[in-house]
Amino acid sequence: MMSKMTCVASRTGLAGLALLAGWALLVTGPAYAQQQFVTIGTGGVTGVYYAVGGAVCRLINKDRKSHGIRCSVESTGGSAFNINTIKAGELDFGLAQSDVQYAALKGIGQFKDAGAYGDLRAVYSVHPEPFTVVARKELNTKTFTDLKGKRVNVGNPGSGTRASMEELLAALGWKLSDFSLASELRADEHGPALCDNKIDAFFYGVGHPSANIQDPTTSCGAKLVSITGPAVDKLVASNPYYAVASIPGGMYANNPDATQTYGVLATMVTSAKTPENVVYQLVKATFDNFEEFKKLHPAFANLKAEEMVKNGLSAPLHAGAEKYYKEKGWLK
Ligand code: GLU
Repeated sequence: MMSKMTCVASRTGLAGLALLAGWALLVTGPAYAQQQFVTIGTGGVTGVYYAVGGAVCRLINKDRKSHGIRCSVESTGGSAFNINTIKAGELDFGLAQSDVQYAALKGIGQFKDAGAYGDLRAVYSVHPEPFTVVARKELNTKTFTDLKGKRVNVGNPGSGTRASMEELLAALGWKLSDFSLASELRADEHGPALCDNKIDAFFYGVGHPSANIQDPTTSCGAKLVSITGPAVDKLVASNPYYAVASIPGGMYANNPDATQTYGVLATMVTSAKTPENVVYQLVKATFDNFEEFKKLHPAFANLKAEEMVKNGLSAPLHAGAEKYYKEKGWLK
């Protein structure tokens, strides 16, 4: 920062310096004293997290003159990356799958080495994310277990997708080496790789409809594959964050039948260290404008506020969120 300022000053000379000084006065003046910048970590730009972040920021920024908060969105590697980056103090908010939220809070699974993240706070849950397997059409894949020995994208490290994939493989007694190729492409890359015949299938935890699934189903007739069976039944029965789910037939081109699977909820999380007013304003922007919010992406259409404040949340609610929900009478 310093070197940048020095550089500007030397190039602009004295007049520039005077201007800079004026600018400094302006930004430190009373009208801007409250200016605060917050960033929401999301996922790939073709996923739904990116749309959630965009919608929330848009609603926050609409009123930024009154509360002084300016919100921006960052495209990231997904759930686990978002939580780790919040913990490091480099993101204010992030989207995370409910199973990843649970694992981070308890310090289990991929968070085992890091330990329990006691300062993790829940804000609300958003759309359901059924685990979605999409395969090349000529494979005629009926169910997930048909993918043994195939080239499968298992998700980039840091994604919730990858964490859930590993839990599924463990439940099946499989290893990554049970696939002939376990690629780690990011979500924005797996659709093109599928249509280019670089992989046979990909696994993705995402809301529906998603542009990410629309692309390969439309451009190369890719097929959604069910994820069912005894191992999945056991996973769902023994983990509070999993539920059976179905992706409606006809939601995607070339996929007229419903696909049975299981999944999680997308959630908005933050740190206990995020100021109460900032969280309060994010929640207020979402729910004061809820009808508008729901129109910003088709995956939000069926959301219900009373469910969002409790379902899928394992970390304690942040105090700023709790305050708003109590005012609304959604919490006792
Ligand atoms: N659930 C995905 C993940 O955490 C991201 C989904 C999205 O970007 O919409 O990896």
